[in-house]
Amino acid sequence: MGHRNRFAHLPPPPDQRHASDAWKYDPVDLARHGEQIQGIIEAIRAEPEVDQRTLRAILRRFPRDGQGFFSKSELVRGYQALCDSGALTFDRDTLLRLQMKPVRTLSGVAPVAVLTKPAGCPGKCIFCPNDPEMPKSYLSWEPGAQRALRHEFDPFEQTASRIAALSNNGHPAQKIELIILGATWSAYPRPYQQWFVQRCLDAMNGVDSASLAEAQALNERAAVRCVGMTVETRPDWVSLDEAVWLRMLGVTRVQLGIQSLNDHILEINRRGHDMATARHASRLLRAAGFKLLMHWMPNLLGATPESDRRDYLRLWRDTDIRPDELKLYPCSLIAGTDLYEIWRQGGYQPYDHETLVDLLADCKAATPRYCRLDRVIRDIPANYVVVGNQFANLREMAKMRLRESGRRCQCIRCREVRGNAVNIQDLRLAGLKYRAGGGQETFLSMKTPDGRLAGFLRLHLPTAPEVVETPAELTGCAIIRQLHVYGPSLPIGDASDGEAQHRGIGQELLAAAARTARRAGYRRLAVIASIGTREYYRQHGFEDGDLYMARDL
Ligand code: SF4
Repeated sequence: MGHRNRFAHLPPPPDQRHASDAWKYDPVDLARHGEQIQGIIEAIRAEPEVDQRTLRAILRRFPRDGQGFFSKSELVRGYQALCDSGALTFDRDTLLRLQMKPVRTLSGVAPVAVLTKPAGCPGKCIFCPNDPEMPKSYLSWEPGAQRALRHEFDPFEQTASRIAALSNNGHPAQKIELIILGATWSAYPRPYQQWFVQRCLDAMNGVDSASLAEAQALNERAAVRCVGMTVETRPDWVSLDEAVWLRMLGVTRVQLGIQSLNDHILEINRRGHDMATARHASRLLRAAGFKLLMHWMPNLLGATPESDRRDYLRLWRDTDIRPDELKLYPCSLIAGTDLYEIWRQGGYQPYDHETLVDLLADCKAATPRYCRLDRVIRDIPANYVVVGNQFANLREMAKMRLRESGRRCQCIRCREVRGNAVNIQDLRLAGLKYRAGGGQETFLSMKTPDGRLAGFLRLHLPTAPEVVETPAELTGCAIIRQLHVYGPSLPIGDASDGEAQHRGIGQELLAAAARTARRAGYRRLAVIASIGTREYYRQHGFEDGDLYMARDL
């Protein structure tokens, strides 16, 4: 691994370059705790495997100040201090064992979710809660919402504190997927949107900027880079002008609430848009290169388990929809909503638990291989839900039901390598073609011999540009909408044995995309690069455009 500082991803001590002291550096007192922490680390190293039980037993043997337990964050920082002092030698395996929730960054990128300030939403959906302390649809006790509230929705403070928490828990926080949450992003005034993104980038850069453009330029080479940016909006707020604006901000993925593909259900749930609008939004965003993360809700007013099953199949049969990622949120009955009143009057009934698990298992089984099922439940604390599902582990239950019936979910999430060692020589390139929007999608993947995904790329070949409006810069281009390589999130430029990332998988996929586009007659290949990956694409021959990067084929 060379001689570079293995803890480079941890927050540095405060210095004048930092815009605020929000990245609190909290060194461990080695004189007081060094001996115990060293004992813990040596005991951890001696174990063949460390699960939560083993770790707890070790912590009990080395109590903090004779009574309490060391937190994992203290252990990681203590390990750093002991390596720095020469008392211990660094090895990556020990660091991984000390990390708090390794699964968080196993997709190679650390997610940082931030909430916009409480504001109304143009939508009037009957199931949507309205917590005055929160942006519409969020609840103050939901995970993540508390942090936003604590920081008074300040984008800088939210981002900085999240990065600090990731770093303190031993997660490399150099590659950040910024996920901006809160009602309908497009309905916030544009100056607010611009300021919000700028301040999130300032927090990653560690310096205040004078403009969004400056913050973006700084982030291209910053130690903490924004490698993806997501916002959420409604189909009726999507237009070409909006797509161009989102690109100017640096957005690469859009969460689009479509909820149902049935106009009658959309109408009685007062979604305020129809399917034609959802199709138009989906086509337009896809043609503009965005990744599409859609929300779909079973158990809406007027739906039945059977109509939901049919509706779910329509997601994949309708070539205008076919999302890249999906959040499947069974409708929750929350006090204070219009739906709650309808339920009180006997006009609505949430599905019982068994019905819901059966439905979700069938949905999982019907999910195509090009889609990632991000969620099968919204993480609403049980005390908010009046009647209906109160199980946070619904996904696991649906998975078990699927297994019992001899079926398997083929979605991306269920096939990721998840940080397992891969050998690039063993990987096989595969291509899956399907029609979507105004063109053809090619889902290129690098697979292990047992079918696990080590990386993938989404290539859009527009075949009917006359029916879909597209940013002018993309005229005549094939477009890479996503390139994703798995492996624990490593510091940029790091190369750890056996891990997929930085092992040429991305390069293979890019070359395959170029070949596919060239064979289909395209002479130029564009990519929707996020701010923090521009350097990477420059190294692969792509040149900067106004909103995209592109190279000749
Ligand atoms: S669009 Fe979303 S946030 Fe707005 S009311 Fe509907 S569900 Fe709630």
